[in-house]
Amino acid sequence: MEDRHGHAISYLRVSITDRCNERCAYCMPGELHEWLPREGILTFEETQRIIRIGAELGVSKLRITGGEPLTRRGVLDLVRALPAIPGIRDIGISTNGTLLARETESGVTMAAALRQAGVQSINISLDTLDRHFYSQITGRDFHAAVLAGIDAAIDASFEQIKLNAVLMRGRNEDQLQPLIEFAAERKLILRFIELMPVSTTEVLSDENFMSILHARRLIESHYGSLIPEPSFRTNGPATYYQIPGRDQRIGFIGAMTNLHFCESCNKLRLTCDGKLRPCLGSALEFDIMKPLRAGASDDDLRQFFLDVVDRKPQQHDFRDNYQPGRKMIAIGG
Ligand code: SAM
Ligand code: SF4
Repeated sequence: MEDRHGHAISYLRVSITDRCNERCAYCMPGELHEWLPREGILTFEETQRIIRIGAELGVSKLRITGGEPLTRRGVLDLVRALPAIPGIRDIGISTNGTLLARETESGVTMAAALRQAGVQSINISLDTLDRHFYSQITGRDFHAAVLAGIDAAIDASFEQIKLNAVLMRGRNEDQLQPLIEFAAERKLILRFIELMPVSTTEVLSDENFMSILHARRLIESHYGSLIPEPSFRTNGPATYYQIPGRDQRIGFIGAMTNLHFCESCNKLRLTCDGKLRPCLGSALEFDIMKPLRAGASDDDLRQFFLDVVDRKPQQHDFRDNYQPGRKMIAIGG
């Protein structure tokens, strides 16, 4: 699948729930969140069918996300079915890490069960090493559980583990170095992410927003000039650097300030309520659940995918007075 701007689409991010056991200020801020009713959520069979159609059209990489994907009952059943879908070669999951160390029915940790089910890479969110501040950001006192979850992920031997930290001016500026040291000790890739106006535009106030350039300067003032690694890429739009004098790689995801951010975009998103979104930073979304539940054939659904890809914008609207239609938690990060 290729869109009209030359983006080859091979990556589908699949949100399986809009629910979460945390309340991150930048993801589901303010007022009480109303969860979607159960019948409004794609069943696992429906999700698998949509993934299969995508795979027939060239999707080879999946990332399961949410909300918090590990809060969805039966998540392991879904994940176990994914490697058998022809064309799917790479399965990742994004999680807040709080449930990774929890024991599953088979007696192993959730992290180990995911690995056994065929998940190759795992992204774990961690914005700070300060427990108090962690509770302030996430609304929950789960810092110790996340640290245990990271250990469980390391023990489970994923091919790749990435830590993701959202940059917040005046809040985690002093955490960049501790996070880098934490990642170094565990040999994990750490990425810093610019705040995006995905939930409300208020989170992007000058007091909150920290650019990746600012973060890089702070890091370089301590570690010296970072060494660019233009040839290292994961599936996403991060740019990577080596810390001088060490075998440690860190990444920056600058959706707001990197003007080349969208050039190599290879993604589509599927929301848990069955909308295909061609771009995180555009309000465009297309309801694939409706035709699916109305009995559409595989051919119809393939055409649906192709039409969505055809509507993929050249770049996101975040810098252009973007007004989010949904909260991040309901899109799938
Ligand atoms: N619950 C999982 C987690 O926290 O990793 C997966 C879903 S979450 C929506 C995926 C990623 O989006 C997380 O790394 C989170 O920090 C990030 N995120 C959420 N809201 C954001 C925002 N407004 N700007 C930038 N990143 C955001
Ligand atoms: Fe939940 Fe992840 Fe959103 Fe935080 S960022 S509220 S953990 S979905």
